Amino acid sequence: MHDDRPDLRALPLDRLAALVAALREKPFRARQIHRWLHRAGAASLDEMSDVPRSLRAALAERTALTTLERASEQRSTDGTVKWTWRTADGKLVESVYMPEADRRTLCVSSQVGCAVGCTFCLTGTMGLARNLSPGEIVDQVHRANRRIVELGLAEGPRPLTNLVFMGMGEPLANYRSVKVALDLLLAEDGPNFSHRHVTVSTSGLVPVMRRFGEETPVKLAVSLNATTDEVRDRIMPINRRWPLAELLAACREFPVRNGRRITFEYVLLRGVNDALEDARRLPGLLAGIPAKVNLIPYNANPGLPFEAPDPARAVEFQEILAARNVTAVVRKNRGRDISAACGQLAAEGGPGDPRRAARAGASGAAAPLAVPGDLG
Ligand code: SAH
Ligand code: SF4
Repeated sequence: MHDDRPDLRALPLDRLAALVAALREKPFRARQIHRWLHRAGAASLDEMSDVPRSLRAALAERTALTTLERASEQRSTDGTVKWTWRTADGKLVESVYMPEADRRTLCVSSQVGCAVGCTFCLTGTMGLARNLSPGEIVDQVHRANRRIVELGLAEGPRPLTNLVFMGMGEPLANYRSVKVALDLLLAEDGPNFSHRHVTVSTSGLVPVMRRFGEETPVKLAVSLNATTDEVRDRIMPINRRWPLAELLAACREFPVRNGRRITFEYVLLRGVNDALEDARRLPGLLAGIPAKVNLIPYNANPGLPFEAPDPARAVEFQEILAARNVTAVVRKNRGRDISAACGQLAAEGGPGDPRRAARAGASGAAAPLAVPGDLG
């Protein structure tokens, strides 16, 4: 990021073509390099064996190439794998691989830390270090694809089928980079993900939601997490800026072409937002929105003052919603044994990891009240 040269990893094909033309190379080279970068997931120019040395040297001079370095890997008993990646400037970010019978999903990060500061979320306790660049976002996918094949977990070359932007960070606070990354990830001559299989989750950055809906075909998830402003203000500071009525109005206006539904995430926090009254109130809030609800039993984080709900309560909650024709599922908690579950990502061992402080007996880091300023 401290490099003024363009990132080869983030150049759309037309810009790569312009660069190749400026270097007086044959046009087909652009496509060839693009395939190395986005289909083969090449880690370096050296891998591009059929690209002439002289062209590789010219590119090395004029461009940078973002490739994340694998800093750690943890494998859960349930098949989940969590990776920590190191960026060129030494920041740590995490991605989580979740294999299922019919899909292989990667949960990707969009920022180092997060400024939104939800009080139940470990990433939120870190504050924001910086946005990830488009290259750093897409490279999580390339590194994961390669590693999954290397570990023999799935057949190559690109085993991932689904992406969720539910890792570290608030993707709509880094919309510009997320948009570039999405374009690359959906490109037919790139990884070619189907827009039906890509979901971006937001804590409710209302002004960006509209733009996101117009400019991308991918799916939206909204972290709702409460049914009253009083509770939501308390656990999600962003609600003080864009309260429930505004958030839900933006959801109602969200363009739902070809069956796009909004997923509402609802973290169940014992005694905070898991009352049956909440379950009864929720369908009214969602009226008029093509919606489904993901109920996520809270994943415990050291130093944070919340508890998981009674498992029976999660089921009751779901039944109340179902009885009112709201589709809801209780999400399996994957990768808890390796702190890879929702809200547990904080680049363990990295600077600012509150788990270190918690282990050392210090009190949990204070959650900064900050609303992202970059609205794209
Ligand atoms: N910043 C975006 C994307 C991250 S998604 C967003 O908040 O939507 C992370 C999801 O995990 C969110 O739905 C959040 O509500 C949920 N979450 C955060 N902390 C959690 C925890 N401790 N247990 C369970 N879910 C949690
Ligand atoms: Fe940020 Fe999302 Fe965590 Fe809230 S839940 S602090 S928005 S990552």
